[in-house]
Amino acid sequence: MRFAVDAMFGRLARWLRMSGYDTLYDVELKDGRLIMMAKEEGRVLLTRDRDAYGRAVKEGVRAVFISSTDFREQLRQMEELGVIFRETPEHARCPYCNKELVRADKKDIKAKVPERVGEAYDKFWTCEGCGRVYWHGGHWKNIMETLRSIRKDG
Ligand SMILES: [Zn+2]
Repeated sequence: MRFAVDAMFGRLARWLRMSGYDTLYDVELKDGRLIMMAKEEGRVLLTRDRDAYGRAVKEGVRAVFISSTDFREQLRQMEELGVIFRETPEHARCPYCNKELVRADKKDIKAKVPERVGEAYDKFWTCEGCGRVYWHGGHWKNIMETLRSIRKDG
């Protein structure tokens, strides 16, 4: 699944990318353009806007209406759709620019990460788009902890 996400769902867009889903998210894009790109690129539109939802359906775009502003509820809805949130940067995309992450040699990125991170982790990834460095902590740990707390609540 590939996604096109409306401007209301920035956090959700980042999580989808971090789980490896190709996700179009650009707050500058107008709804009409977003819908057309979803159509051209075979993306599932995620929107909170009933009007945009209706237009997408009319255009033959697969669209999912997300009414909840509660992030945990949004995640549940994504899982119902078949999205699998992943706990590692392996096969992930950059949450900021949607480019695929590639494995990096520790020696090459050591200067770019905090010392404690360099000491605590051995595997690193970089984004070829923006150059950010990622490791199996921070962002991804947060994903796992949030999902665990959702499961606990049933
Ligand atoms: Zn990037």
